[in-house]
Amino acid sequence: MPLKFVYFFVISRGLFITVHDRGHIASILQNWPEKDIKAVCVTDGERILGLGDLGCHGMGIPVGKLALYTACGGMPPQQCLPVMLDVGTDNEALLKDPLYIGLRHKRVRGQAYDELIDEFMKAVSDRYGMDCLIQFEDFANTNAFRLLSKYRNKYCTFNDDIQGTAAVAVAGLLAALRITKSKMSNHTIVFQGAGEAAMGIAELISMAMEKEGLSKTESLKKIWMVDSKGLIVKGRDHLTHEKQRFAHEHPQMKNLEDAVRDLKPTAIIGVAAVAGAFSEQIIRDMASFNQRPIIFALSNPTSKAECTAEQCYTFTEGRGIFASGSPFDAVTLPDGRTFYPGQGNNAYIFPGVGLGVTACALRNITEDVFLTAAEALADLVTEKDLAEGRLYPPLSSIREVSLKLAAKIMDYAYDHKMATLRPEPSDKEAHVRSICYSTDYDDFTVDSYQWPEDCMTVQSCKL
Ligand code: NAD
Repeated sequence: MPLKFVYFFVISRGLFITVHDRGHIASILQNWPEKDIKAVCVTDGERILGLGDLGCHGMGIPVGKLALYTACGGMPPQQCLPVMLDVGTDNEALLKDPLYIGLRHKRVRGQAYDELIDEFMKAVSDRYGMDCLIQFEDFANTNAFRLLSKYRNKYCTFNDDIQGTAAVAVAGLLAALRITKSKMSNHTIVFQGAGEAAMGIAELISMAMEKEGLSKTESLKKIWMVDSKGLIVKGRDHLTHEKQRFAHEHPQMKNLEDAVRDLKPTAIIGVAAVAGAFSEQIIRDMASFNQRPIIFALSNPTSKAECTAEQCYTFTEGRGIFASGSPFDAVTLPDGRTFYPGQGNNAYIFPGVGLGVTACALRNITEDVFLTAAEALADLVTEKDLAEGRLYPPLSSIREVSLKLAAKIMDYAYDHKMATLRPEPSDKEAHVRSICYSTDYDDFTVDSYQWPEDCMTVQSCKL
């Protein structure tokens, strides 16, 4: 769908703001008919899913994410605003496409880009308040990290690709710990990939380990990363500031297979969009030194997954604890056992976080909010789910899941004096329920209603 979004473009379902609109963003926001916006989802279209630079086609993402705010979290749709910041595209095919609706030039970068984002953040907060949530979605790697650290303490904002992913993956790990009966700090984790998803997940894992009593330095030492140049080690080339935190003293290694054999991790997490990266050898090795190896193939879409659910369960003789980014069908092994792979979908996290943040009018979203959400999500997994291989509650219960997450986030926010809604609601769940959008009509039947005399249209419809 994102590849073809603008070919189905009929009416605008969000705001397109271009880099040439600098100086006018406040007045553009005035054009949006709704006045009470609680959540904005924004992209610049540069890294849409695993599909790359899709320019204005990227608008499908904020529209879709905010639809999930309503469908999965119960956020009233009129309070949600999707935004596409059009700074051009480096996608040559789109630039040549006569039907492309975006700016027809290469991406503007540097000072002009930064000024656009600065003005946008200020304009949104001026118009809708400092507690208006701004979710960053599908920005390219360098901008994603940079903008998150620039704005996280100034505005009510988070980056879903980094922090939402982190929470859903850590929730899966926390559920897995209930199967392995171990603590997070007992684990050694190797990531395939060292981008937005890997960094976010690693940061939250390290926080969970710190909560168990490990120091920051000790916790970081338990996490290893392999990127396109090989294992990240001290002294290696091409180490960004983020990667340096996970560079440990170790001989250089070119590939994941060698790293796994040498480091003997208890968990491997794939977030590099390299299909099949968890080879049969790697999975068998994991099963040889772990009673219950944790294998998360999180890359999307399904075609990019590091391994399939079937490969994981088959090569580990059903001992693998598996989660994926995209859905996989249940797997029945020749011995008759059936496993239902968990899907670590961010939709388990961001609607609940959005609901919780807006329900108590938070002005900053700290990393602890995401750890709270991850813990709350893991707690909702039942023993029966775990026995069947599921690390997440069924997606059919997502509204209830989001509600519980939101209530936990509110508890955390009031406990830590971060909430600005006063007075503090005594029953958080009831408060969240009361602000949710309801699709149910009040008790109403056509026959019982006293139609006004002049209401001919409805009367004739009735006939
Ligand atoms: P990113 O571009 O920020 O990072 C990709 C990383 O992969 C980079 O560090 C890169 O060096 C590394 N890489 C590329 N080729 C490699 C190779 N051959 N070997 C090892 N590493 C290699 O992207 P991202 O936002 O981190 O997303 C990565 C993947 O994770 C995507 O497929 C995305 O869909 C998926 N993802 C899943 C979820 C989820 O399941 N909930 C959430 C977010 C992202």
